[in-house]
Amino acid sequence: MSQVIGEGSVALFHYTLRGDDGAVIDTSDGRGAMAYLHGHGNIVPGLEAAMVGKATGDAFDVAVAPADGYGEFDASAVQQVHRSQLPAGFEPQVGMPLQAQGPDGQGFVVFVHAVEGAYVSLTTNHPLAGQTLHFAIRIEEVRDATAEELAHGHVHGPGGHHH
Ligand code: ZN
Repeated sequence: MSQVIGEGSVALFHYTLRGDDGAVIDTSDGRGAMAYLHGHGNIVPGLEAAMVGKATGDAFDVAVAPADGYGEFDASAVQQVHRSQLPAGFEPQVGMPLQAQGPDGQGFVVFVHAVEGAYVSLTTNHPLAGQTLHFAIRIEEVRDATAEELAHGHVHGPGGHHH
């Protein structure tokens, strides 16, 4: 019996992510398989749950609701700023990440939500918040994680971290 995905597995998989309108948001095509360590939150919860029990060669589609994806869209987490408040040379485009700093000096990421003339709306919502994620998945390989990968909480080597 071939190995299936569960706690302590590393899986390499190909994916295509589409929105509700069917348009492709992201895909591993041309980039090679993506690797993740199961049980460590490396991928969104809804996709991680759908991976359990899958084996090499399996292909499946899964629709992940916002709550199990990048969260619901929080309309209160949007703030409009003047372009002059943005870092020099930053050309805002919708979905772009920007490093921000809180009052305590702690860094966090905000995303460009909208650009309206001299004003830019920034949000802490992920660009895919509020969206149902339609994944098409094909499992390329399933193996046991190494002790080092388990200690780091991520995959090393092809499709994973290189350090
Ligand atoms: Zn590592």
